[in-house]
Amino acid sequence: MRRFKSQYFSTVLAALLLLTQTMWAQQSEKRPRLIVKNARLFTMAEGRKDVFTGYLIVDEDGRLTAVAAGDPPANLTAEQTWDAGGHWILPGFLSAHSHLWQAAFRGIAADKTLPGWIDGLYNQKASKASPEDFYWFTLDGALDHLQHGITSAYDFSYGSTNWGHCTGVECDKLTYKAELDSGIRFVHGFQQDRISDTDTPAMAMGRLKLFMDWLGTQPKSTQLLSVMLNGGTSFNETYQQAVAEKAMMDAFHIGNQSHYLEPPDTVAAERAKFKWFEDSGLLGPTLYFGHFIHPDDAILTKVAAAHSGMSWNPLSNGRLASGVADIPKYLKMGIRVGMGVDGEASADIADPFENMRTGLYAIRDKYEDATVMSPYQVLYLHTMGSADVMGVKDKLGSLEPGKYADFLVVDPKRFGTVFDPYASLVLIAGEPDLERVYVGGVLKVDHGKLLGQDYDKVLAESAKRSAATMQ
Ligand SMILES: [Zn+2]
Repeated sequence: MRRFKSQYFSTVLAALLLLTQTMWAQQSEKRPRLIVKNARLFTMAEGRKDVFTGYLIVDEDGRLTAVAAGDPPANLTAEQTWDAGGHWILPGFLSAHSHLWQAAFRGIAADKTLPGWIDGLYNQKASKASPEDFYWFTLDGALDHLQHGITSAYDFSYGSTNWGHCTGVECDKLTYKAELDSGIRFVHGFQQDRISDTDTPAMAMGRLKLFMDWLGTQPKSTQLLSVMLNGGTSFNETYQQAVAEKAMMDAFHIGNQSHYLEPPDTVAAERAKFKWFEDSGLLGPTLYFGHFIHPDDAILTKVAAAHSGMSWNPLSNGRLASGVADIPKYLKMGIRVGMGVDGEASADIADPFENMRTGLYAIRDKYEDATVMSPYQVLYLHTMGSADVMGVKDKLGSLEPGKYADFLVVDPKRFGTVFDPYASLVLIAGEPDLERVYVGGVLKVDHGKLLGQDYDKVLAESAKRSAATMQ
């Protein structure tokens, strides 16, 4: 009996020892990636408008496990601990509407509105570029976004069977590679074919399937947020476009962002196509409109009821003289609103601070009222608002436990006396104040320098290749 007991206890002891060792091993494996302490935190979390001094903890997968006031637990160690010295931390910006490749064509068609600008950029230049050219163009744009504090973007890729030399799945593959190589998070906007008598819905579906099948063979990355369709209903003269897009969305469970009601030139014709969005079933929570400057009240009411959204792109809208979207009215009606910097060929630098100010001031001018939109509201739209329309508000847009640790560090020393921290951040901050950019708790930009990237080479390749399209 005694021998049985002692055997029993030694077995239990051995098991306990093993368990303790395993737990210890797991714990040391699971040491946080990063602790940032002594930061002024602008979390943008719902119901958390107060700015407070505290810390954040990032786990080994790049997600936040704590965002709290005060000091981190004294016994907690991490791979890296950084004292922010009271500097300001906010979520990385999301651009709900970007054409990353357009960075190679900044400053183009400076005196043109949208139709002339499209002709100058797409027909005369980009149509001559190859898939490899688009790799460098896209990398150029993605790094410009990242350097300015945009850590996630919806990227309208270029390729389709209808335009130029960057066609077919090859164009999407090289664009995808550039998006990935940049280190940014992204929605890959798939450029589907323009449906016509010669380009049938079945062909468009087949090309999307080729890309999705290829994507399935690629290593999984948390940088890829989703694939969506670059909707073309407002560009096409046939209802079949909308029907084909809905079929593709259903087949692959993907969303859609459609350019709609951007230029003032074609308002009546585009409004008349709204019924195509309705009748095809495109209108719904997985659809959002790009620009959406000129809807009438009937359209707005239906968009709100369908829980569709829109991306407001004020820098680009101003540059192209497209008009001012009535954002306060959209918000009052319950439309979901995000913000985008658009492509750098119409923005012309991917700076979210400039984008917020341009938008805020355009709205205040429109209403001749300085209370119609606040600095906090516009910051919310460029973070949580964009995350919402991009379908990733469970992962991004605010600093909260469980979300990705994508955040920016701003040095407030130029701001002087702070009367209202959101006002200082939105009305004053710009490129010189952006001290650090983190994606998943990994430092990507330090005082304007892109880490792990040969940015000079990217700029040189991009410039050389865009110059070649001038021939
Ligand atoms: Zn666009």
